[in-house]
Amino acid sequence: MTASSKPTISFEFFPPKTEKMEAALWRSIEALAPLEPSFVSVTYGAGGSTRERTHDTVARIVRETKLAPAAHLTCVSATREEVDAVIRAYAEAGVGHIVALRGDPADGVGSAYAPHPGGYAYASDLVAGIAAIGGFEISVGAYPERHPESATWDVEIDNLKRKVDAGASRAITQFFFDDDLFESFLERVRAAGVSIPVVPGIIPVHNFTAVAGFAEKTGASVPKALTERFARVGESVEERNRAAIDFGIEQVADLRARGVEHFHFYTMNRADLVTDIVQALGYHCED
Ligand code: FAD
Repeated sequence: MTASSKPTISFEFFPPKTEKMEAALWRSIEALAPLEPSFVSVTYGAGGSTRERTHDTVARIVRETKLAPAAHLTCVSATREEVDAVIRAYAEAGVGHIVALRGDPADGVGSAYAPHPGGYAYASDLVAGIAAIGGFEISVGAYPERHPESATWDVEIDNLKRKVDAGASRAITQFFFDDDLFESFLERVRAAGVSIPVVPGIIPVHNFTAVAGFAEKTGASVPKALTERFARVGESVEERNRAAIDFGIEQVADLRARGVEHFHFYTMNRADLVTDIVQALGYHCED
């Protein structure tokens, strides 16, 4: 594979809760930075619980690295004025990219969502708010297996279309394990006339039980073959890491063969597995 044929990559991190986690995050950022991702995104805790930590992490990325950060932002538990203040603070900190999300219900995934009375109700409203302030690249979430609250595919795709019409220029997907589902989703999106890049979100299966539990909450299916495959993996960290890397390499290679040009990795603030997986895409830290 030549350097020019390498696909684009980007990474997601979450804001650290403790000094120890902060040190681990920065070790990962330093290890992954030489791979020159097109951007690195930082999540926003449920209910806006990490507002300051997300901002501080993103602002530090601007100050101390050459990476282009993207700040996640949600609609939950905040008025429009409060959310707009966060958006303006990002502009002041030199952040030019926001991943605009509705956020999960304040009582947790699976409970009923009620928009804040004075807030942005859904992601499309937030995208419009960010676009009205101006100056930001805007990415949004997308769901190859349909968002659990979308009753039909028409509802799902119409919602994505609304987000694009409001100003989003990229969709990043929920993670998935069955690449056929991603391809079918992409066909639906394109058939609806939506032409923005749809970037698959790739999660390294560092801990199968944890990832499968997370998948259940978010509506991502776990193929039986994958469950059986990880059931055969030994208990040692080395064996688990090897299994995660092998599956990740197979998935990105398969998606690449299907024409994917950009991969977004849910790093879980770890550099090791992602570094090994992106080697299958032609990336090497010494590049
Ligand atoms: P929306 O696009 O608003 O859609 C959510 C649901 O509401 C859909 O079923 C849609 O059809 C429906 N809907 C839309 N508009 C209306 C309307 N007007 N009336 C009725 N129904 C409507 N969560 C966090 O808390 N922090 C994060 O940092 C974070 N990062 C994420 C990153 C990615 C790439 C993804 C895919 C998800 C992320 N999430 C995050 C999770 C996300 O907040 C949840 O999946 C949430 O439930 C939906 O967010 P959304 O932006 O897709 O919502």
